[in-house]
Amino acid sequence: MEMNALAPWLHESLQRALDTLAGERLAHALLICGPTHIGKRVFADALARTLLCRARVDGAACGQCRDCVLYAAGTHPDWRYLSFEENEKTKVLRKEIVVEQVRALGGWFALTPQRGGAQVALIEPASAMNTNASNALLKTLEEPMRERYLLLLCESPMQLSATIRSRCQRIELQPPGESQVGLDWLRARGHDAAVARTALDAARGHPGLAAHWIEQGLLTLRDSVRADLAAITSGRAQPLAVAAAWLADGQAEQRLAFAADLAVDLHAEALGARSVAAVAGSGRSNAARLTAAPDFPKLSAWFDAANRTRALLRTPIRSDLVLASLLRDWRIAMSARPV
Ligand SMILES: [Zn+2]
Repeated sequence: MEMNALAPWLHESLQRALDTLAGERLAHALLICGPTHIGKRVFADALARTLLCRARVDGAACGQCRDCVLYAAGTHPDWRYLSFEENEKTKVLRKEIVVEQVRALGGWFALTPQRGGAQVALIEPASAMNTNASNALLKTLEEPMRERYLLLLCESPMQLSATIRSRCQRIELQPPGESQVGLDWLRARGHDAAVARTALDAARGHPGLAAHWIEQGLLTLRDSVRADLAAITSGRAQPLAVAAAWLADGQAEQRLAFAADLAVDLHAEALGARSVAAVAGSGRSNAARLTAAPDFPKLSAWFDAANRTRALLRTPIRSDLVLASLLRDWRIAMSARPV
């Protein structure tokens, strides 16, 4: 779920981009990156609207002119949105952005803009372009044309090839430095102060992610993951049984993400970066408290294994066995020294 209005922690980045545009230093290709739920799409929309508006007020879109009205209606003829498309033969949504789409975009950029202003295209997620699509995009990037703008959205620039990265101006969207910004924003969305604080702490200061977790009821899931892992560590639960439970409701991937997060938190705690209360599920669940001392190199390897397993869950494997094996390794990593 994305935010529908530009979040306060994005204002500064947007202003910087608009200043760059006003100074005619804005590149033709922009790489807008940042974590999920940070507000990349809303940011790109604000930028696209401004690029298309020719009656800008203080460097921002006026919101009144024909270009602004058309953009708001999603019918601006000089605007293109590229994402996953249906495979024409199978009618199934593709899992990647293919070369035909990128070639069509290149052809469109070569046309004269219908409304005489800029042409703007957005590719989301840019990391979904396959190799051929990515190579085709390079052609477009190598021949920048006046008033043609390409916005690429992705979580991490490292998901794109070095050649594409080198041809883009990069805008990195980040959570606010001050937690108060996030807390105020969560409160304004109607969330209880204590819940907002817990979620923001769990999401390491990323308010968009905290909101997603609260609104999807995922904080409870996070607590249960920590409790399950603590039970495995102490021998109160068996890996195979926990694996079966984790796979039962389609939330195994999210659980593994939370589990990997816990491994990171334990590392951070070892380095003195976070309080024990935060590690033990924001102090809300005693069941999640550590009952053993972890082996840190093993825990680090476990973090990688958890992420690999997440990817494996999308393939036709015996998920229960893979997950049970991962959970057994958790017990081993967490049991270097009995407490
Ligand atoms: Zn306008």
